[in-house]
Amino acid sequence: MGRIRVLPDAVANQIAAGEVVERPAAVVKELLENSLDAGATSIRVEAESGGRRLLRITDDGCGMLNDDAMLAFERHATSKLSNVKDLFAIATLGFRGEALPSIASVSRLTLETHAQEETAGAVVEIHGGKMIRNEPAALANGTIITVRDLFYNVPARKKFLRSDQTELAHIASLVTHYSLAHPDKSFELRHDGRELLNVTPVETLRERVFQVFGNQTLEDLIDLGAHEKEMLVPDAAEEDRTRVFLLRGFVSRPQVQKYNRNSIYLFVNGRLIRDKLLLHALTSAYHNLMPAGA
Ligand code: ADP
Ligand code: MG
Repeated sequence: MGRIRVLPDAVANQIAAGEVVERPAAVVKELLENSLDAGATSIRVEAESGGRRLLRITDDGCGMLNDDAMLAFERHATSKLSNVKDLFAIATLGFRGEALPSIASVSRLTLETHAQEETAGAVVEIHGGKMIRNEPAALANGTIITVRDLFYNVPARKKFLRSDQTELAHIASLVTHYSLAHPDKSFELRHDGRELLNVTPVETLRERVFQVFGNQTLEDLIDLGAHEKEMLVPDAAEEDRTRVFLLRGFVSRPQVQKYNRNSIYLFVNGRLIRDKLLLHALTSAYHNLMPAGA
């Protein structure tokens, strides 16, 4: 017998989990993006003990069909992509089909989901990658995913989690980011029963900035308006070569000074990004206005 073996799915999922979910905020990111991809207009995030004891994301999106509720936990199972060509026209935040099986392999996960096309919804429960429940249930349209005891079966990873306060700060920053990217949706964040964020749909980014940061911050910001620029993409197909880029947002007045880059929020097509080049462009624009070391 040779020395090479194909890893069982359970092992492969746990390895993938190491990359996809390094901390509770990463779980929230994946689940939140799934909710947005499902067309949700209202998303609630609940956490307990910095997310290590419990994370629950409730949405009013399209829900999953009964047959899909189980399938969603298979590796590389996705409804967002069916061939390589689709990769070049991705309109969703996710497409790799790895998040749910990964998260379910390192936690006790419960999925409750109901698509309006079907009369009943489904409850699926998976502990450490093992399916322990799958049955029909009367549920409202949408999806609730509850993740308990993250890393309970991977003590080595659990050890790397920081204090509840730190883990919560990451979660809060993430939910804040997404609420800014989607002013037309409502977002709620609760930790240990306490409400930390609760914003209802508004028409403009300006109103959302006010909801999230308050009036003082809004007064300290300059609205960039909307800038359009046509650009040539040489590598693109002939009919797709000219693209219109639209830039909009807010920048702070010079007297507002933050000493780190965590207060910079950048999005490309609704996707949260951390890009060195863009961060650098932004900070160098302020270079002469900031004290050294900022
Ligand atoms: P991906 O997002 O890359 O497709 P995931 O593992 O995150 O992979 O999710 C697998 C599939 O489960 C998705 O493609 C989608 O069909 C379904 N799904 C996940 N979360 C939700 C949700 N909140 N509402 C509706 N469908 C969902
Ligand atoms: Mg996903």
